[in-house]
Amino acid sequence: MTQPRIMILATGGTIAGSAGSALGRGYRAGQLGIDELVSAARELGLVADLSGEEIAAVGSQDIGWGEWQALYAAITRAIADPAVAGVIVTHGTDTAEETAWLLDLTLPAGKPVVLVGAMRPADAVGSDGMRNFANAVRVAGDTGAHGRGVMVVMGDAVFAASDVRKAATSNIDAFKGFPRGPLGLVSPASLDWFAPAAKAGEQARFTWPEALPRVEILYAHADMDAQPVASALAIGAVGLVLAGLGQGNASAPVLDALQSASRDGVPVVRASRVDEGYVDRNVEVDDDARGFVAARSFNPQKARILLQLLIAGGVTGPAAMQAAFDRR
Ligand code: GLU
Repeated sequence: MTQPRIMILATGGTIAGSAGSALGRGYRAGQLGIDELVSAARELGLVADLSGEEIAAVGSQDIGWGEWQALYAAITRAIADPAVAGVIVTHGTDTAEETAWLLDLTLPAGKPVVLVGAMRPADAVGSDGMRNFANAVRVAGDTGAHGRGVMVVMGDAVFAASDVRKAATSNIDAFKGFPRGPLGLVSPASLDWFAPAAKAGEQARFTWPEALPRVEILYAHADMDAQPVASALAIGAVGLVLAGLGQGNASAPVLDALQSASRDGVPVVRASRVDEGYVDRNVEVDDDARGFVAARSFNPQKARILLQLLIAGGVTGPAAMQAAFDRR
């Protein structure tokens, strides 16, 4: 039987992490090299021909432009190779949703690209890394995974990059989807898709940018004045995302300062600090009058990535930006 060839691109995180002790104190991300990961996976007897490349060995809190460029280039090379069936990116869980969403917006929705991580280090009691990895291999080698965009596999579930978020800091069932739940359920031996591939044939929405512009997220809270808006602009932000109260709200001075920024050509996207915080236009805040964009179902960190790509792509004006946030 021919085994699907899968390229593993390692970036670090807990899936390559060492607990140092069964109690998991003194934990360090990104300790296990790609060769160790691939040989541990081979020992599981998975039906796949695995090869690997190390892009980075960091906790995902330190992933940024340099790693993203290297990842994009390596994925583009891998998917262009007719022998490669799919790509797996091992990644820390903290910013997996941001990397997945950036890649989803800049890659065609063809061969599967699957991010996978772990909540517990490889040598911790009840480690979930190899289970998640075996599940990712099952997804990346599946012909039914084509045309679904970039996915995240965690806790026996497959999520679309547009929906996925980390919703818990420590249990192994930490990833959730919003507004959609998982695309399917997976185990090392089985895979059930809940619906046909929604993005079949779609090309990349954005060309890979030459750089990502500075976009700051402002976290709203009670008793907030306008100083954080001024500070963000002073350090060179060319776009602002509000992690707003409820449906993307903030105090009057903050809304007024954001309105001035928008009038001065700095796009402002209203997202919510609430988990599962859907933000619609013109509900409590008058977006039409203030020149704001509503993030809809995108949380602040995903709204930031989309706004960066829009600015880098030369898109201007609230209407054109809103259209991009309306699309899923
Ligand atoms: N902060 C680390 C990271 O995101 C550890 C968390 C994890 O991988 O689960 O890489």
